[in-house]
Formats: sequence, C-alpha cells, structure tokens
Amino acid sequence: VRACQRLPKVELHAHLNGCIRPSLLLELAEERDIVGQLSLSDFKDVILKEDRSLEECFKLFALIHILTTDHGIITRITKEVIEDFASESVVYLELRTTPKHNEKVGMSKRSYVEAVLAGIRATDAAFPLESFFACEEKICASSATMETPNHRCDEKKIGRIHVRLLLSIDRRESVEGAMETVRLAWEMRHLGIVGIDLSGDPCIGDWKTFLPALTWAKEQGFPVALHCAEVPNPTEVEAMLAFRPDRLGHVCFLEDSEWSKLLTSGIPVEVCLTSNIRTNRVQSIEVHHFSALYNANHPVVICTDDPGIFSTTISREYFLIASHFVPELLHLSKKAIDFTFADEKLKKTLLRLFDQAEYVLD
Ligand code: 5GP
Repeated sequence: VRACQRLPKVELHAHLNGCIRPSLLLELAEERDIVGQLSLSDFKDVILKEDRSLEECFKLFALIHILTTDHGIITRITKEVIEDFASESVVYLELRTTPKHNEKVGMSKRSYVEAVLAGIRATDAAFPLESFFACEEKICASSATMETPNHRCDEKKIGRIHVRLLLSIDRRESVEGAMETVRLAWEMRHLGIVGIDLSGDPCIGDWKTFLPALTWAKEQGFPVALHCAEVPNPTEVEAMLAFRPDRLGHVCFLEDSEWSKLLTSGIPVEVCLTSNIRTNRVQSIEVHHFSALYNANHPVVICTDDPGIFSTTISREYFLIASHFVPELLHLSKKAIDFTFADEKLKKTLLRLFDQAEYVLD
C-alpha cells in the first residue's frame, strides 16, 4: 500500500459526508450524548468498527446526517477530508455533496454549499511531493510551476491539492428540489463547482423526476455524473445511457445489451471496488467488472465512494487493483485526468505533474 500512497492520484467519486473521519464522528456523538440529544452507547460500536456490514453502514449514514447539521461542522469536515486525500498523494479531488436545507438551524441549500466552499478555501492541504519526486534539482525547479514554493532539495517539498465540487441531487428530492440544486451549482460555477451528480438510495425515486433538471444542466454544457445500475433496473439504465451523461458511477447490474451500449458509448466509469463489495453489489473482487471494462479498453477511474463508511483509502483501492488486475498503476491514475470536469488549463498542469512523477518512478 505504501507504493500506492506515493503514486499521484485523481479522485473523482467521493461523497463528502461519506468521507468523514470516525474520530470526528465519535467527538460529535460524545458532544450530543453529553447534552442528552442521543445515546453514545447506541452508536459507539458501529463508529469504532472497521469492517461494517451493509446494515451498519446505513446506520452510520443516518448518524452522520444527525450530527452534521451545523455550518461550522460542514466546513470542518470538508477541510479534514481534503487533508486526508492530500496525505494520500491525491493531486486533484472532485468532492460531491448534497446541499441540505434545514430551517431549524437556519441552513439553506445555498448556505450549506457556502459552508463547504469555506472548508475548501480554509484548506492549505498539500500532498507530499517528496514522496513521489526524487530529490533532484531538475524536479525541484519544475515543482515551482505547481504553485509551490521553490524549495531547496533538503527542504520538505509540497504541492497544493486541487479541489473541485459537484452538487448531488438526492433521489428522494422533488422536481423543484432537483432544479434548485442544478441552478445553484450553475450560478456558483465560478467558485469551483464543476458539475452535477445524481445519487441517494437507488431503490427510491423515479428517473423522470430528475430528467428536467439534468437536461437543463446538459443544455448549459454543465457536466453530469450519474449513479447507475447499483440495483437491477433495466428501464432506468436504458434511459440513463440514452441521456449520455459525462460519467457513470458503479454500473454493477447491466444486462448484455446495456453492457454493449456502455462500451460503444465510451462514457467513463467511476469504479468503487470496496464500496461495491461491502454493499453486496459485487460478490468478490475477482468477479468485479473492472476487469472487463479495463480489458475492453473502456475509460475507468478508481475511486473510494465513502472511505469513512467503508474503511478504505484511495491508496488501498489502487493496491487492490494492482494485486488483482493491473500491476502498472501510473498509466491508470494519469489517464483519469481526461475524465475530470476540470478546465483544460488545469488538466495540462496535472499532466505535467504526472509526467514529472513518471520520470522519477520509472
Ligand atoms: P453527502 O451528499 O451528504 O455529502 O454524502 C452522503 C450521501 O451521498 C448519502 O446520503 C447518499 O445520498 C449519497 N451516497 C453515498 N454513497 C452512495 C452510494 O454508494 N450510492 C448512492 N446511490 N448514493 C450514495
């Protein structure tokens, strides 16, 4: 796993509240226990446990949403999540989150998003360049082009992680709720919001509810990523493929005809190995569809989904790929740059960074 930690990486499918540190959850639960708002003993075991069952994962999500209703906490989670990804040598991160509305604490969807953006701004998290760059004059000099100080070789070299945001539509939402999220994202795009995601319980909601909002986003040229085929639902999968989103998450349950359509479409797939196995969508790593996608030369990106819930890290996900499927990881992680929703200038910056890493890791 250490070699995978050194590898520069791009993370494109991570739900903000699914990335929360268990230590923070425990701290927040303890605070609520003290004021009698919940009983810590009901949740302590599930917070501290690493290998949670599917049922326990959902119990944890319910707890997270009870504990994270405060603007200050949202900002803190965002900051910590970015620090955690940076420490795993993630150089570009697309976080996604569902804007929440909670009158009791004076939270609107807009103020929720502002709290997340405040967390992004407050972060000076840096990935440790020295972990994947040899200490050579040449490399040190070029690292300055990554907005880093021009360090001497014997100093700690760091690089800034680039963070962008997708706003998620929860499948429980109404037509109006979905539209509000998309319009908010579009309006705030100059602040680093780069697209829309559709997520939430795949057994709830009807695709037709979200179509007007998603179509509106598409008409503006705003990228859309869809959680797709997490449960068997051929009608919805057909409609999603026909919509031609910019990326698809999971795609665990595809019938043969849908599989052919996916391969023909060339739509990049966000692969979340541990998540798919923990939630019983795929029986084991050995039979995971990553292998078929990769062998078909289909665009794929390795992601974590909810590292706080599934007790994983992006480095561990790459390690699983290396130990089961593909030993050469740098090409795989670099290729993900093409599938980001970043602008062309940032893509070029990231490519340069990977080229320097390639030079050293060779
Ligand atoms: P948040 O949007 O609150 O930052 O992140 C947690 C939310 O992301 C969950 O409540 C759920 O709506 C969504 N989410 C997290 N993991 C998954 C997943 O594996 N599948 C789907 N469909 N949604 C998810």
